Amino acid sequence: MQASSLRAHLPRLSDGVVCCRGCLGALGLSAEAGLCEHCWEGLLPLPEPRCARCALTHDEEEACPEPVGWTCGDALWDYHGGRPALGALLVPAIKDGELGWKAALLRRVSQASLPQWAQEANLITCAPTTFPRRWHRGFDLAEETGQLLGRRLALPFARTLQKSLFIGRQAERTESERRRLPRKAVALRRNATIEGRVVLLVDDVWTTGTTLLRCGQALTAGGAAEIRVLTLFRSL
Ligand SMILES: [Zn+2]
Ligand SMILES: [Zn+2]
Repeated sequence: MQASSLRAHLPRLSDGVVCCRGCLGALGLSAEAGLCEHCWEGLLPLPEPRCARCALTHDEEEACPEPVGWTCGDALWDYHGGRPALGALLVPAIKDGELGWKAALLRRVSQASLPQWAQEANLITCAPTTFPRRWHRGFDLAEETGQLLGRRLALPFARTLQKSLFIGRQAERTESERRRLPRKAVALRRNATIEGRVVLLVDDVWTTGTTLLRCGQALTAGGAAEIRVLTLFRSL
């Protein structure tokens, strides 16, 4: 987006001074993509201590409150961190085509400190988006994050997963089987080679982990040796 058209989207104070799109305060010299320095500081790490698998804080003796299908899991930032909550501000807008925020966020991904176990994977992949959504947006945030991490860590990136619809054999299933099955599930792409790989699975926002769980199951069924999960944001 050109600077002039970006400026047209910025809220203005009555005297014509352009203000921050997050907090409506003054933009200042360190502002980026229409957000002030203070708003960008809302990219906060998740609270410590947190579980190395589910990234939540819970008793070490107790099982993770949500099912996890991976050995290590973490997110770079707290989705609701900052005021206004920066992840909740950025991600929906980016998915809606806010390219300035996407570029500014990905710049921070390229500088963020990463867990050691992420660097020791040997394949990076991402959770899939449905094709029409990806086509409509022209990009996929999870995929771009995965590609960026691949370049940064000198690891191969591959799209190995796709969303699939259960339509075919539905009639053969019993009522309870049908209810248990997700309407949309994740499947391995036909050309995916993941056998024996330690796969770093990347996504934008980790909420309940259901999508990640289905991704992990598909990767495990496809022969991956180990799954590790890293997302941009974790919603607590
Ligand atoms: Zn601000
Ligand atoms: Zn846990």
